[in-house]
Amino acid sequence: MADRLAGVPLAPYTTLRTGGPARAFTQARTQDELVAIVAEADHEGEPVLVLGGGSNLVVSDGGFDGLVVRVATRGVDVTAPNSVAGDGRALVTVQAGEDWDALVARCVAEGWSGVECLSGIPGLVGSTPIQNVGAYGQDVSQTVAAVRVYDRATGEVGDLTAAECGFAYRHSAFKHDPGRHMVLAVTYALERSPLSGPVAYKELAARLGVEIGARVPLADAREAVLELRRGKGMVLDPDDPDTRSAGSFFTNPVLGPEEAAALALRAPGHPRWDMPDGTVKIPAAWLIENAGFPKGYEKGRVRISTKHTLALTNPSGEAGAAELLALAREVRDGVHEKFGVWLVNEPVLVGVSL
Ligand SMILES: Cc1cc2nc3c(=O)[nH]c(=O)nc-3n(C[C@H](O)[C@H](O)[C@H](O)COP(=O)(O)OP(=O)(O)OC[C@H]3O[C@@H](n4cnc5c(N)ncnc54)[C@H](O)[C@@H]3O)c2cc1C
Repeated sequence: MADRLAGVPLAPYTTLRTGGPARAFTQARTQDELVAIVAEADHEGEPVLVLGGGSNLVVSDGGFDGLVVRVATRGVDVTAPNSVAGDGRALVTVQAGEDWDALVARCVAEGWSGVECLSGIPGLVGSTPIQNVGAYGQDVSQTVAAVRVYDRATGEVGDLTAAECGFAYRHSAFKHDPGRHMVLAVTYALERSPLSGPVAYKELAARLGVEIGARVPLADAREAVLELRRGKGMVLDPDDPDTRSAGSFFTNPVLGPEEAAALALRAPGHPRWDMPDGTVKIPAAWLIENAGFPKGYEKGRVRISTKHTLALTNPSGEAGAAELLALAREVRDGVHEKFGVWLVNEPVLVGVSL
């Protein structure tokens, strides 16, 4: 069994650089080790925090009073003879501890299409199904074929189909029942093609100089996405303080018809995306800016990114979670006061609340 260390500060393990010490900290290098560590902690009644790349976490300044398990499993399996889906797609099974963007880079190099627009997203593979990671018109629900999980409620290891994962916008069945399932590995079904999926995002199409729906060489899609993301401070870079964030702090609110009508009265002509199911998605960045919080808005040692309204940042890395959450509350309450819409946080809050 892996070593347990006491009092390990968590801030260095998160991209926001917040978080006090973990009572106990360990790493799991194999699936069996991961399951055994969590099963034993559950048996002992010890709280567990599963840690991936720490890029979607706000951890309390008081730390975590339990066991933090860092997922360090490795392996990408594409060689098995059964690794081709019935429809010709490649089935790529990846251990939870693999770096997500390294996987995307490999998919682009190998000619496996379907995740290229998810280039530059930090974190590990095992976290991608949790919030159905997405950007620039793609999300992993479009390519996840199966997720291997350890179910802490039943003590069993098994495979969930994509349908069983209950994917929605930045949401999944895993988020619905937080902590119950530990993701051990994810199988993606990827089209064997030198071309990207149809470009579905206006800004990306414009950068590539193509129409919506066009397909472009995989490497071109990846490069264009990385350029767009760097311009917004959304690719981790130690030299760019705007990237000391958890990515977008708020999700784009999805309103029912009544709420949408109420917002239209308060803000005639506001930007909106009409969804096929009759709901209306509103760009959270527009709400935030128009409620009086521009890019670079500062509160003590934390601020809204100077490049991207949705990212709350800890530029020096010296502020705590409490300071960051005070800014998040000010923004959330300001938007509610002006527009009557409650913004919801995207990152997982550990030991703190908004
Ligand atoms: C600069 C920046 C840009 C970003 N851009 C995007 C973006 O474009 N789109 C997007 O969707 N997200 C984005 N994010 C958010 C984040 O990168 C993703 O949510 C990512 O998938 C989180 O992965 P992680 O390994 O860092 O997870 P962590 O932050 O370590 O964990 C997140 C949650 O998942 C749980 N978890 C982690 N691993 C497992 C596992 N194996 N089994 C069960 N639970 C687990 C944790 O307990 C926690 O609740 C961005 C973040 C940053 C910092």
